[in-house]
Parts: sequence; C-alpha cells; structure tokens
Amino acid sequence: MSVRVRIAPSPTGNLHIGTARTAVFNWLFAHRHQGVFVLRVEDTDAARSRPEYTENIKSGLEWLGLNWDEGPFFQTQRLDQYQQAIQTLLDKGLAYPCYCSPEELDEMRETQQAKGQAPGYDNRHRNLSPSEKEKFEAEGRKPVIRFKIDGDRAIAWKDVIRDTVTWQGCDLGGDMVIARAAENDEPYGQALYNLAVVVDDIDMNISHVIRGEDHIANTAKQILLYEALAEEIPIFAHTPLILNEEGRKLSKRDGVTSIDDFRKMGFLPEALVNYMTLLGWTFPDSTKEIFTLEEAAQEFDLDRVNKAGAKFDWDKLDWLNSQYLHQMSADKLTDLLIPHWQEAGYAVDKMDRDWLEKLTALTAPTLNRLTDVIKETSVFFVDSVEYSSEAMDLLQQEGVATVITEIAEQVNNTDSIGEDDAQALIKQVTKSQKVKKGLVMRSLRASLTGELHGPDLTQTWLLLNQLGTDKTRLQQTLDKIAG
Ligand code: GLU
Repeated sequence: MSVRVRIAPSPTGNLHIGTARTAVFNWLFAHRHQGVFVLRVEDTDAARSRPEYTENIKSGLEWLGLNWDEGPFFQTQRLDQYQQAIQTLLDKGLAYPCYCSPEELDEMRETQQAKGQAPGYDNRHRNLSPSEKEKFEAEGRKPVIRFKIDGDRAIAWKDVIRDTVTWQGCDLGGDMVIARAAENDEPYGQALYNLAVVVDDIDMNISHVIRGEDHIANTAKQILLYEALAEEIPIFAHTPLILNEEGRKLSKRDGVTSIDDFRKMGFLPEALVNYMTLLGWTFPDSTKEIFTLEEAAQEFDLDRVNKAGAKFDWDKLDWLNSQYLHQMSADKLTDLLIPHWQEAGYAVDKMDRDWLEKLTALTAPTLNRLTDVIKETSVFFVDSVEYSSEAMDLLQQEGVATVITEIAEQVNNTDSIGEDDAQALIKQVTKSQKVKKGLVMRSLRASLTGELHGPDLTQTWLLLNQLGTDKTRLQQTLDKIAG
C-alpha cells in the first residue's frame, strides 16, 4: 500500500504545538515509507478562520522543516465535493433534513439534563412525513442535514497505536449534523468537519489518518460515513495528548502553545522537532535522544508510539536546545543571535563581525535558549555594570584597590592587549602586589563584569579591551571603591 498521510489544521489560530507534533509524526511516517505528506487547510469555519493563521501555520511547518509534498488544499475550494456527498447520503436515505430550532434543541438538552441523561439529539426529525417537512419549510425554517447514527451499533477499529478501539453508537450524541445552510443561504452549503474530512480523506487517497486522541469519537462517526459512502476506511492511529506538569492537556494557561511562542522564546527548530518526536516516541536505541528528523524517519514506526499521554518537560527541552546550541558553529550561531541582541537594544550593528563571533564562542556554552544571550552578554553592551553584593564585598577587601589600580595603569599604557599580554599582566600584578593570582583574577572579573563568576576571564577581558571598555570599567570600579 502506498502511504499517503496528511496534516489538516484549522486556521482558527496560530500553529499549535499539538498540531505540530501530529505533523511531525505524519512527516516521519511518510518519510519512513517513501510516502506522501499532504497539507490540508480546514477553513470551512468562515467566522473563525483567518488567512494570517494559514500563513502562520505554513511558515511554522516550514520553520520546523516539516515540508509537505502536496497542497496546501483548502476546504473552502472543495464545497462542491461536499455537496455531492451530502446529496448521495440524502439519496440513499442515510441523511435527512432536521428543522429543529435552537430553542427546541435547548429545551431538549434541558429536559435530558433534568432526567440525568447524556445530552444528545433525540432523532425527532428522522422520519418526518412530506407534509410535516412542507409545514416547516412554509414556516421559513432552514434545515440542517443530519446523518443517521445507529445507536445500537458498536463501532470498532484496529488502531495502530491503541489496538482495538470500540465505541458505542449510542454514545455519539444522536444523528449528527453534517451540513447547514451556508451564509449565502445555499441549502446545506456549509459542510461540517466530520463530513468534509471524510470526503477529503477519500479524494486525497489518505491511507493512514494519524491525529490526536481527542479525535477518537470523531473517528467512530467518520467510520460510519465511510461505510455510508461505500468507501474504503483508512487506517487510524491516535497519538497521545501532550500533557502539562499536572497531567492535564497542555493549554494556553501553561504559558505557550504556539510554535511562534517557542521560536520567540529562543528555541531552535531542530531542537523543537527533536523534542516533539520524543513526546510519545522513543528511538529504538532509547539512549539516543538527539537526532535529526531524517534519522528518526529511518527508524520511525507507529507501533512504537506510546498510548499514554506525553508530559511536556521544559527542562528536557532546554537541555536538548542547549545541545544543539553548543555544537553549532560560531558563524551560524551569531546569525541567530543577532536578532535577539537587536531586540534587546544592544548595539550589535556597530560591532565587528569577528568580535561578535568571538563573543558568541565565549557565551555559547552558557546558553540553553537563544534568548539567554541577552542576560549572558549584557556586560559587553551596557554603559556601566551593576556590582553584585559578592563582587562588592570582594572589591572592598584590603589590597584590592591597589591591584586594580595597577592593572588600570598597565591597561591605560597599552593600545590593545592580546592573550599573552593579558596573562603576563596578571602575573606581573600578582608578583608586584604580593597577592595570590586568584585574587587578581577575581578583582579583575569583579571590576569588568560586576560578578565573581562567568565565562573565561581572559577572553572576556580581550573582548572588552577591543571596545576600550576595560579602561572605563576599571576606573568606574576604583571610583566606586573610593566612593
Ligand atoms: N481540522 C482538524 C483539527 O485541526 C483536523 C483533525 C483531523 O486530523 O482529522 O483538529
């Protein structure tokens, strides 16, 4: 069987992490089996769909490297196909117009609630006589089209991830609405999700429907539609949900949900797709946690996808991201950091490229996210440093001021210093001030950065020296100690 899978987002919001993870699994499955990955935009909900969301979804998938082979197809361009299917179901007597008003439906629900029954449509217009229909039409009621659901049926399928799933027809909420009048009043002009998705999956020859487990009840309904349309039922695979720390479905309340949010937070696309792949799947060699999409695709199969929900673990994502950042070339990483520096208002545009790359190389090991660079490199861009209380304590120790004074004198007498000069200078001050080398180094670091800890001191100093900032910092420190 040739594999054809799809991702079918609704453009009612930005690309969501759950949709993106479903896209990852579909992409991997398609690539594993030399199949085709289709992008279909489910935009029939005119009130909530927006072109900017479609753009966001497309650019998000592209950013993640989840390129599609066919599409994007748009449901709004396929309305005729849905109309035809609806007509077929009407002709076969498997669907019918229902004229219930919203008030009648509300009343029905209230009565069910009062009796402690599950809410659902009671199929009251299933067998209207022609004259009853005429009467409703004469009243100007606009019907919806309902598809008959046999409440006595048990609908079962072999799910690739969940094994046999059985759903009772009586738990599907009664005969389901598959279409309603369109805004332009075209009767049944607006097909609803379950009908449209089935027609599309048939027309697009989808072999495997891989989607989140929140669609399981829809799958039961859709299987009935495939049967009614006498079409072959695809293979279904329902992926586990992404859960938050408390074990509930990850939602907006957890801070971020859209792929854009993750991008803005400084995650790399390769780290994010790697992490999303691990949300429910493990490499056959489970110690292998860092891999490209292509590497995963060589091993991916749906039977290794977990049934249980996948907990979203920020620490793990940070760790994975840091692994990608740490192994990236300074050149590439600098390109990625520049927009973050710019956003923070740091004057990177004035900096020499070589200097920037050295700064990148110095800071890269401290980064988990690209955005960490703002805090980690602030000392290179601010006018004056803030001294931490530990740094202040050190700077006020006896003898430290003279150490700094001597360093300052030496620095002021040289145009620029190189690595050897820096080492020699520290050695010389150690000797002449008769103090430990550690004290000289700590004093220097505290003066230059306001902190006692940080990345390599010599490199930090050399970078500041190239800007001439070390001179001002040393003087500022001396003023501060005196002051
Ligand atoms: N438009 C649906 C969604 O975004 C697609 C579900 C499906 O894959 O069938 O959830």
